[in-house]
Amino acid sequence: MMLGFLLARAGVEVVVLEKHGDFLRDFRGDTIHPSTLEVIYELGLIEDFLARPHQEIREFSGQIGEETIPLVDLTHLPTHCKFLGFMPQWDFLDFVAEQAKAYPTFRLIMQAEVTDLIVKGNSIAGVKAQTPDGEIEVRATLVLGCDGRKSIVRELADLHVESLGAPIDVLWFRVTRKPDDPSQVLGRFVPGKIMVMLNRDQYWQCAYVIRKGALEEVKRRGLEAFRADIVSIAPFLKDRVSEIQDWEPIKLLTVLVDRLRKWYRPGLLCIGDAAHAMSPVGGVGINLAIQDAVAAANILARPLLENYVSLSHLQKVQWRREFPTRVTQWGQVQVQERIFSSVLSTQQNFRTPWFLRLFKKFPVLRRIPARLIGIGVRPEHVKTPDVLNPPPPYRAPQDASSFWDLFSFLPW
Ligand SMILES: Cc1cc2nc3c(=O)[nH]c(=O)nc-3n(C[C@H](O)[C@H](O)[C@H](O)COP(=O)(O)OP(=O)(O)OC[C@H]3O[C@@H](n4cnc5c(N)ncnc54)[C@H](O)[C@@H]3O)c2cc1C
Repeated sequence: MMLGFLLARAGVEVVVLEKHGDFLRDFRGDTIHPSTLEVIYELGLIEDFLARPHQEIREFSGQIGEETIPLVDLTHLPTHCKFLGFMPQWDFLDFVAEQAKAYPTFRLIMQAEVTDLIVKGNSIAGVKAQTPDGEIEVRATLVLGCDGRKSIVRELADLHVESLGAPIDVLWFRVTRKPDDPSQVLGRFVPGKIMVMLNRDQYWQCAYVIRKGALEEVKRRGLEAFRADIVSIAPFLKDRVSEIQDWEPIKLLTVLVDRLRKWYRPGLLCIGDAAHAMSPVGGVGINLAIQDAVAAANILARPLLENYVSLSHLQKVQWRREFPTRVTQWGQVQVQERIFSSVLSTQQNFRTPWFLRLFKKFPVLRRIPARLIGIGVRPEHVKTPDVLNPPPPYRAPQDASSFWDLFSFLPW
């Protein structure tokens, strides 16, 4: 959606196909990172954006056993917004779609599920999509696969996927939130259990981490045991866990970490999770997908306007974004394997690791994870023009003279 908006804003004709009828997918993350907020600022939309219901989080803690450790302090970031915004992703997508619709070259077709690629010679020339009114064909100079970690586009394009493995899955459910509940913490870690709780105002969106494939085991132990596990991590939920009456509202979210070896082929490019599925660790996947979109728009807007996109243009996008992807995924895999796996496999009380204790003593250390989570590696900046609001034409100051004016005494 962001890439569609940026390209349409630069005057490129864009069609966005979305398979669902709305963006109300419960599993989406909620985080709008300072670097994404910076992009919104650069687009001149920050005031409108912040006028929408959202929460702002400036500091984060982690709860390890009984101890609360302040881990992240975003207030020193070199960005206009020194906080992490929390806004349900459907509201964020509605906002971006609304902005994009102001541009005459933007078209969004909902309930259009891409089912096939149109191939012409060696190149991808468009897609076929199923809609309530039957199949449609959309022909395009470039197909952008932004269809997430189970991308059909990358599968049909036969792009090679390298899996980095993920030892965890997530159970996703809601519990009512009360005004006097403790404030948001990054994660709660007790022996054998991890839970992240996102404040969605009226309710807590809970992400309960389990070992990969352990759902059947959790179910075998029964709902009563599951509710007791939740209370042992977040005791203040004791009066509300009875809201979980059966397994139906508890959704299993399979965690994947993978990336494409090559993100493109003639006429097609994948970005976001379609190019590199991100783990929920650090909640940085949305941010990375948006940074991909900004980089892709910066590199591709002009070639698309000229209706000529070469392989080297597509390669440039991968070169630009592959390094941040690799570094971020490396960090996520380390946290999954070294922290999440060991917490889930122990039943013994553990002490807070020494290096995390340092975060309590030296607040300056909290700026390091703030930088990694809030801005990430190689932040992108909007360089594409806005056809509706072009910058005023450059005018030289009245008294400026050109270099050649110096020679005006000569007879020519
Ligand atoms: C449990 C979990 C929690 C997470 N929490 C966070 C978080 O808090 N913060 C964060 O930054 N990241 C989080 N992530 C990662 C984040 O969700 C992804 O990295 C991010 O959403 C990727 O964005 P995307 O636009 O590439 O793909 P997606 O957000 O998956 O969007 C893909 C879109 O394509 C559409 N689509 C799919 N197939 C088709 C088709 N055939 N035709 C047409 N449309 C199609 C989908 O409906 C969807 O709208 C989490 C991941 C998991 C698994």
